[in-house]
Amino acid sequence: MKAFFFFFCQRLHPYTPLTLPLSPPSPSHETGRYFAIDIGGTNFRVIYVDLAPTRGGVARLELRDAPIPDHAYTCPVDGLFDMMATTLLAFGKELGVLGGEGAAPPTVGFCFSFPCDQTALDGGKLLKLTKRFNNPGAVGVDPVAALRAALARAGEPAARVVALLNDSVGTLAGGRYADPSVELGVILGTGTNAAYVESAAAVTKLAPRAAARLRTGKVVVNTEWGNFADVSLPTLPADLALDAATPHAGEQLMEKQMSGMYMGEIARRLLLELADQGALFAAGAVPKALREPGALTTADVAACDGDRSVTLGGVARVLAKKLGATGTSYLDRRVVRRVCHLVALRSARLLATAIASLLRQIGRDGSEEAGGGQPPPPRPAGVAVDGGVFEHYALYRAYVAAGLADLLGRPAAAAVAVKRVRDASSRGAAFLAAAADHAELGAARAESARVGEVPALAAA
Ligand code: ADP
Ligand code: MG
Repeated sequence: MKAFFFFFCQRLHPYTPLTLPLSPPSPSHETGRYFAIDIGGTNFRVIYVDLAPTRGGVARLELRDAPIPDHAYTCPVDGLFDMMATTLLAFGKELGVLGGEGAAPPTVGFCFSFPCDQTALDGGKLLKLTKRFNNPGAVGVDPVAALRAALARAGEPAARVVALLNDSVGTLAGGRYADPSVELGVILGTGTNAAYVESAAAVTKLAPRAAARLRTGKVVVNTEWGNFADVSLPTLPADLALDAATPHAGEQLMEKQMSGMYMGEIARRLLLELADQGALFAAGAVPKALREPGALTTADVAACDGDRSVTLGGVARVLAKKLGATGTSYLDRRVVRRVCHLVALRSARLLATAIASLLRQIGRDGSEEAGGGQPPPPRPAGVAVDGGVFEHYALYRAYVAAGLADLLGRPAAAAVAVKRVRDASSRGAAFLAAAADHAELGAARAESARVGEVPALAAA
């Protein structure tokens, strides 16, 4: 893990395609009504917030999860945006805040978790789709323009889409809104990614003049770390085979070792290897379903790993339900639990390594105190984490904490608060829409706004 940490620190930087200007937290003046759309890989969500005039207050917050219909993964890309627009408008009408007499058109933050070359807070170009999505015509599309067009087709031509972000930036914004010490936003859901607060001077992709214009000297960097690929990644034959079977082979290699979309499938492939070698399940009794891609999910991995019962009844239930394997031996169940444990542990330690690398990058990993003399206590740093794996898999969170302690040492790790922040990316998208909207209004008033600068990811 330490060797990988070294490589990750050295080589992460080429994978930073986006910078987003951001000011430090300041008392909130964000008020008003905002919508956000949050689309990742598994869940599609619409959110409505009414921000109260009190400091950081939220008068009303409504969230609606909508399943992504199968055809939306593969239809021409306009269909995907139409699906989002119609769901958002239906939700607003249901809440009674859209479509009625005199109702204002919606102002929307768009959390779109795919790699984009972002050119403005409200514009960019989609570089590629990832996870399950494979929609013709998607690459090169400006997601904001596409969403605006879809909202117009759905009957709201005056809708405003004011902020484009991905879920890691949203998590950073949502986490920081609640706690200004948050420096990193991390996703471990269907995919994985992170965004962090960096000094503009350290970002070589930012033109010096643009950097000089930033009042705070800080920017948000979207790392796209899921795309990290390097010989230092501990790769197994099962990883290579899994990658080759995905629609985007050769891409998102670290994500494919770590995230919720893949851990179940890695475990299945490893178990099949063992079964084929005769090391698992009685001869002739290898369950057929074990040969089917997707037969095991990351939730199954979590259930097996967490089974502390004497007879491993939880593992037996997963094997029976998901693979149709009844009458498994205790030894089989031990092997299955061990494999699931190792798959999750590898992922968690990669995550700990990646978090520690970013903490080192911003001087918060405790190493600056390592010089002679009495070291000052490490400065606290907050890491907000969102995503289904981190949220539902308690043991996984413990593995990440242990990994950080191994890498940073206990005192420095104790200063790092890794917090599970539920719905952070969706909330963050709405807050950033508010911040962008207020920047726009302020700019119109003052006529001298600094281009593109977002005034506040406000402290609660
Ligand atoms: P998205 O990334 O689309 O926003 P989520 O954050 O909800 O979606 O994460 C979905 C991922 O969470 C899925 O890949 C799923 O495998 C994983 N997941 C769901 N439940 C559990 C669980 N109990 N244990 C581990 N992982 C889970
Ligand atoms: Mg999400």
